Amino acid sequence: MSDIIQLLPDHVANQIAAGEVVQRPASVVKELLENAIDADANEVKLIIKDAGKTLVQVIDDGKGMSTTDARLSFERHATSKIKSAEDLFQLNTKGFRGEALASIAAIAHVELKTKEADSELGTAIIIEGSAVKSQEVAVTPKGTSVAVKNLFFNIPARRNFLKSDTVELRHITDEFHRVALAHPNIAFAMYHNGSELFNLPESNYRQRVVNIFGSKTNEKLVPVNEETEVLKVTGFVGKPEYSKKTKSEQFFFVNHRFIKSPYLNHAINAAFDGLLKDGYHPSYFLNLEVDPKTIDINIHPTKTEIKFDDEHTLYAILRASVKHSLGQFNIAPVLDFESHSSLNTPYNYKDKSGKMPTIEVDRSFNPFKDDVEGQHTPQKSQPAFSKAPTAHWESLYVGLESKETIDQSDFDEMTFESHAVDKQIFTSNDVASEKTTFQLRQKYIVTTIKSGMLVIDQNRAHQRILYEDLLKHLTIKEATTQQLLFPLHLHFSKSDIKIINQIKDDLESTGFLFSEIKDESVVITGVPVGVPESEVSIVLEQLISDVEHGVPDQNFSASDLMAKSMAKSLAIKTGQSLNAEEQEHLLNSLFACKEPSVTPSNKSTFITLEVGAIEKKFM
Ligand code: ADP
Ligand code: MG
Repeated sequence: MSDIIQLLPDHVANQIAAGEVVQRPASVVKELLENAIDADANEVKLIIKDAGKTLVQVIDDGKGMSTTDARLSFERHATSKIKSAEDLFQLNTKGFRGEALASIAAIAHVELKTKEADSELGTAIIIEGSAVKSQEVAVTPKGTSVAVKNLFFNIPARRNFLKSDTVELRHITDEFHRVALAHPNIAFAMYHNGSELFNLPESNYRQRVVNIFGSKTNEKLVPVNEETEVLKVTGFVGKPEYSKKTKSEQFFFVNHRFIKSPYLNHAINAAFDGLLKDGYHPSYFLNLEVDPKTIDINIHPTKTEIKFDDEHTLYAILRASVKHSLGQFNIAPVLDFESHSSLNTPYNYKDKSGKMPTIEVDRSFNPFKDDVEGQHTPQKSQPAFSKAPTAHWESLYVGLESKETIDQSDFDEMTFESHAVDKQIFTSNDVASEKTTFQLRQKYIVTTIKSGMLVIDQNRAHQRILYEDLLKHLTIKEATTQQLLFPLHLHFSKSDIKIINQIKDDLESTGFLFSEIKDESVVITGVPVGVPESEVSIVLEQLISDVEHGVPDQNFSASDLMAKSMAKSLAIKTGQSLNAEEQEHLLNSLFACKEPSVTPSNKSTFITLEVGAIEKKFM
């Protein structure tokens, strides 16, 4: 029997490859735009006719190609971007497979014009269905222009399979958005059938998002900024009240490459948990920067799916970062999810630029002192930090809304179906003048705010206050110690002592002083201010157990873990009654926190009950 296997001719192989790489005109758009970026262009123009069915052209002012390279660029596996397989794991370019131009040229009429900056003349090549029709010297500006005409001219089945112009143009616009969002430092323009659809100047990321999605977008954005060893996250999430029924505003970029990741998307949804109505999706525009060595991009021909070495860690960091941002901007859940979306947050975000309140935590606040004399006399050893909080907590709460924009009209949005209700009831007199708080079941502190009622969980609120305070001590290593009159001898197991030794430095940063650490006991001569002697062993035991069982998912550092653990042990508990002044102090300190709305373990510290919701109950 004769041999029957033979190598496919190049043009057939290219056409097969094209089936993977080029599904529709939008795929061509993506490949050409990416090539322009890889060529270090500063300005990129996309010209489309008939939703790309007649023409897709990309013109860039990048580095251009030599005559030889121009011809070679249409060969399969011809690329200037990688030289060896190892390069696959340190990619800084969009392309690397060297098959886009070859594939496109196999199924369309392609005209390439290109010139390098230091050449006087450029090159023009025309290729149709992998066959070079002409190659000439050409007068052309620096950079490259690739025009792709009559896509799928030789594959009628594919051409017939294309959707309506509206649908195909939508796909093209999506690709254009993805590339433009990933590169705000490059100017992009897009034209369809002669009219300009987008003109995006070089800008910062926020401006780019706004230029693409409209000026109203600006007020929706909450910045996300987090840097850890494995991942840097920057960008924005949309405020929950602007969430959408569609997923059209969800963008992940990994090292400036748009990717789809249901897993990471889940992390964002988890961060928004409790903040969104059913069936709504958060908006996000997030740039993740990771070491290129830790990802594999080469798992999908269109490169929109990538593999991460350590997805779980990324998930945890991403979720925490977004939660953090939402918390910082005080987007906390309220009781009533049926209400108008503008009621869903207690604050007015309009035009808020995201300033953080600059008030320091009141360290003299010591809830363990049954301090009825009215004054919090600071301990001798404590630094002069005992000024009573000057700001009334409500001014801090209002401060979170941004001082410039407290606009009555935003409150006016709260309309009531019952006309008998006078808005005066809550917009003016009663609340602002005299503030009363009261304790409910020795668990909650209840008070009024302009838009309704605030219910604060005393234990959780205090956890937040202590956590931020402790974390600050731990990071700046500034201890506030309370010297003990008699040294405290505490017994521990050998393994516990190991852990104490391990975290001794951090413990000292919080204010602990050890005069001796033996095999099975320690002698403590000083404790952090606010830690009663009777609690010391409980705090340490809890801490040791938390360090032992430290869940790396939630705690990124030892300091964080310690601060969380100690805050939990030390926070005032349910069942403790607080007098009016202590309640006031708690509120003052809570709203002076960076992230007042959640506990260190991300549980809500307070809820707001909007007047609208109360009204409904009476209907
Ligand atoms: P890849 O981008 O994967 O390398 P392509 O088929 O898209 O493969 O392009 C092949 C080569 O052609 C690129 O490696 C690059 O050297 C060159 N090239 C393509 N487009 C451009 C452009 N717009 N400007 C400069 N060089 C380009
Ligand atoms: Mg390419």
